[in-house]
Amino acid sequence: MALRDLTAAQQLAALAAGETTSLELVDAHLAAVDADPVQAFLAVDADGARARAREIDALPERPPLGGVPIAIKDALSTRDIVTTSGSRMLEGFRPVYTATCVDRLEAAGAIVLGKTNMDEFAMGSSTENSAYQNTLNPWDHERVPGGSSGGSAASVAERQVPWSLGSDTGGSIRQPASLCGIVGMKPTYGAISRYGLIAFASSLDQVGPFARTVEDAALLLRHMVGRDPMDSTSLDWPGEITVPTATDLAGVRVGVVDELMGEGVEPGVRAAVEASLGVMEDLGATVVPVSLPSALSGLATYYVIAPAECSSNLARFDGIRYGHPIPADNLLDQYELTRGELFGPEVKRRIMLGTFALASGYYDQYYGRAQRLRTLIVREFAEAFSGVDLLASPTSPTVAFPLGDRTADPYAMYMADVCTIPVSLAGLPAISLPCGLADGLPVGLQLAGPAFSENRLLDAAHAVEGALAFDTRPPGLMT
Ligand code: GLN
Repeated sequence: MALRDLTAAQQLAALAAGETTSLELVDAHLAAVDADPVQAFLAVDADGARARAREIDALPERPPLGGVPIAIKDALSTRDIVTTSGSRMLEGFRPVYTATCVDRLEAAGAIVLGKTNMDEFAMGSSTENSAYQNTLNPWDHERVPGGSSGGSAASVAERQVPWSLGSDTGGSIRQPASLCGIVGMKPTYGAISRYGLIAFASSLDQVGPFARTVEDAALLLRHMVGRDPMDSTSLDWPGEITVPTATDLAGVRVGVVDELMGEGVEPGVRAAVEASLGVMEDLGATVVPVSLPSALSGLATYYVIAPAECSSNLARFDGIRYGHPIPADNLLDQYELTRGELFGPEVKRRIMLGTFALASGYYDQYYGRAQRLRTLIVREFAEAFSGVDLLASPTSPTVAFPLGDRTADPYAMYMADVCTIPVSLAGLPAISLPCGLADGLPVGLQLAGPAFSENRLLDAAHAVEGALAFDTRPPGLMT
């Protein structure tokens, strides 16, 4: 078996057994990154990765993440490695510090191979809003990998790395994981420090792992959670993330969200999700229907709150504090020219929407109402969790769509996150795992739980994964 076919846990075992070295692993994965048939990477740090691998190989004892390579979404700052957040605004930007979550993984022995492509400032669901390139879905190069963390998802599905990091504001880890046939997890809001994550919508943004197995996702997560003095919204993690071992769902009550199984869900997606609910019952779970009456208002709520927050967060990109100034006769013209030229159309649309929603006179009509709806959604989830342990739904209502299919229709693009956004608004943890194929393309099952239920979620996902035995190899990698 080629080294890049091993999961991260298998790579760690091979390292522990002395069957390979970190340098061999890094070289094997770099070869796949160099070829980059899916255009997943924006920057590659081959020299840095090799140097770090040599250092780790020379240590008397391997650190817990052993010297296994990883890819990082370009929204996360990495010291001295160009970090653009998919925007021309930050072209060539080399941060002076590394995001806490990446720092923690590096301290645990992960080796950063490079930075992955994304929708500009994490706004989008297909990675087509990147200012640099399209990333291709490893299952079908004519289709999108999902977004906004499309590069991170595609790099794992393509086996350029065993795992990667993404960020999820409304679905940007779970949806691309679903479209690329891999595992993606958004933890509880506040679980992982956002220090060094280029902010999109701060009441929603969360970092999380992509991997090909639930076990690997847990291994990454356990090294990232916990309070960071540099991020006042980060939380002390109660206990620790354990490596999941469950093989059944005895005693687990699963609620299927009615509103997220209806209109707009492709028949093939619904069939795969229903089949996996059957598998969950076979594993001992009780599966019951659950209603979240406001879930479908989530999308409208999100598209007021997220743009409102982004209009504030992106004010710093003015060519003076951050970004490249385009000189003009006076300061106002310079701001306008810089922001007008260097932001892409979706980012400008969001900033305008958000500025409008926050304008005095409209504030309560839009932002205030959206906040009230958000509270309603939070309460509906709390109510649901008084009767069930987990909520199940499709992750995405459709499989990967063709490149270019939705770029002219923002609303169609926004619909990609209809199932993931309610969970984000409620700040809850959720995992997407591949649960089958529809028309030869992967379908994702989303499992969500109450705040801090990560261990239970990972265990349940592990049991389902074992029973489904989904083959994560895209057709092109089957030899
Ligand atoms: N697709 C959603 C958006 O465009 C979610 C993005 C995200 O989670 N970063 O805002």
